[in-house]
Amino acid sequence: MPGRVLVVDDVLPNVKLLEAKLTSEYFDVLTASDGPEALAVIEREMPDLVLLDVMMPGMDGFDVCRRIKANPRTTHLPVIMVTALSDVSDRVRGIEAGADDFLTKPVVDAALFARVRSLLRLKMMMDEWRLREATSSQLGLPSRTMTELDTLDASILLVEDNAIDALNVTETLQADRALITRATTGRETLALLERCPFDLIICSLNLNQDDALRLTSMLRANEVSRHTPILMVGEDDQTQQLAKALDLGINDYLLKPIDRNEILARVRTQIRRRRYQDLLRENYEQGLSMALTDSLTGAYNRRYLMTHLERVLADPAARNKPLGCQMIDVDLFKPVNDTHGHDAGDEILKAIVQTMRTNVRNVDLVARLGGEEFVIIMPDTQEHFAEQVAERIRDKISDTRVTLKSGVEIAVTVSIGLAMREPDDTVESLLKAADVALYQAKNSGRNRVVTGARP
Ligand code: GH3
Ligand code: MG
Ligand code: MG
Repeated sequence: MPGRVLVVDDVLPNVKLLEAKLTSEYFDVLTASDGPEALAVIEREMPDLVLLDVMMPGMDGFDVCRRIKANPRTTHLPVIMVTALSDVSDRVRGIEAGADDFLTKPVVDAALFARVRSLLRLKMMMDEWRLREATSSQLGLPSRTMTELDTLDASILLVEDNAIDALNVTETLQADRALITRATTGRETLALLERCPFDLIICSLNLNQDDALRLTSMLRANEVSRHTPILMVGEDDQTQQLAKALDLGINDYLLKPIDRNEILARVRTQIRRRRYQDLLRENYEQGLSMALTDSLTGAYNRRYLMTHLERVLADPAARNKPLGCQMIDVDLFKPVNDTHGHDAGDEILKAIVQTMRTNVRNVDLVARLGGEEFVIIMPDTQEHFAEQVAERIRDKISDTRVTLKSGVEIAVTVSIGLAMREPDDTVESLLKAADVALYQAKNSGRNRVVTGARP
């Protein structure tokens, strides 16, 4: 797995050592010798992972980490803190600063590579979602940082056959109102997963009836738990197996005896990351469901029109400029469908949109409100000019011919209601005004433009 790793340490030999190790495993390595330089390199080079020394003069590692995690552009960047301290309270401090992991100096190769690979895998997945989310963000959805997400009320599956350990964990996690479901075997675990989703799985490495590593790889292969974070609990002398577990896809581990603050901090990190990922995915899916255009005509769809109008009306820069809104409805379209068939009707709708498009400016928005009804939004447009455009569109559409396979030529006309935006208009009131004008156009004989008069 290729990846660009930034090594930050104020002691040059330490940098050189890590650089050599990582390069031998084919990672690209960037280096920095203090906090400010690290932040500058991150900004410029966007690495995939940071190995960060804690003790540095000036800005220490905790501070650098906090800044990385508080920046929306870098909040997803995995950070491993490399420290001479092995004190639990320092680990907790680091995790609370947003660190994804800790390595203790001297760094053991197997642990280093397993951690780096595991976090890089995660990063690649996040990058994909971030990319997709960026597209939907253009529709005005929120972009948030991981730090802002809370970690309360998580539902956690605890796989632990030791009753005392299970009780300890359960009590500790009550601090965050976690909802704990306990399983004691692999079978039970898989059965519970079938029934409901979990935000996190905490799994003991030492199960009497099952091989926890085998269970891990089953969880990773299983459709429902493939993306659920796994936090493994092992013993002091099990670092080999824990490194193996990281390669199999667990997200983090901790050692017994379990320190209360450490498990809380690690669980929070996993939950927060999980929720961040869910947020990205939700935003993306929301973006998809309001996919921008109507598949028949290629015009913007109703959902997009509403979002767009909402924004335009809220924009202070556009406040003092005139804005025209045309509501357009095909005249007697039902008889056309009845006579020539629905497919012929569809061809006409496509041709009409084409005609509208070629007769408005680039900044005007053509949308299909539904059925045979369309809206055109014309920003920065005086009333008399808006009327001319509407008149031209009405005229061009009446000239548009669609030739059917049978050779028969058909044409339709449209009626148009035009409304000029008023200072207090909402999306609803503006569309309503155009609709009222359209109704008048229909009632006074069709194939005409009526400009709405409002009190
Ligand atoms: P008018 O608006 O002038 O009062 O008469 P109309 O016949 O156009 O109005 P009405 O609302 O009664 O009928 C609209 C018709 O538009 C009904 C439906 O058959 C047709 N229509 C709506 N959507 C589509 C579409 O996507 N494709 C086709 N081919 N026809 C559609
Ligand atoms: Mg109609
Ligand atoms: Mg209609």
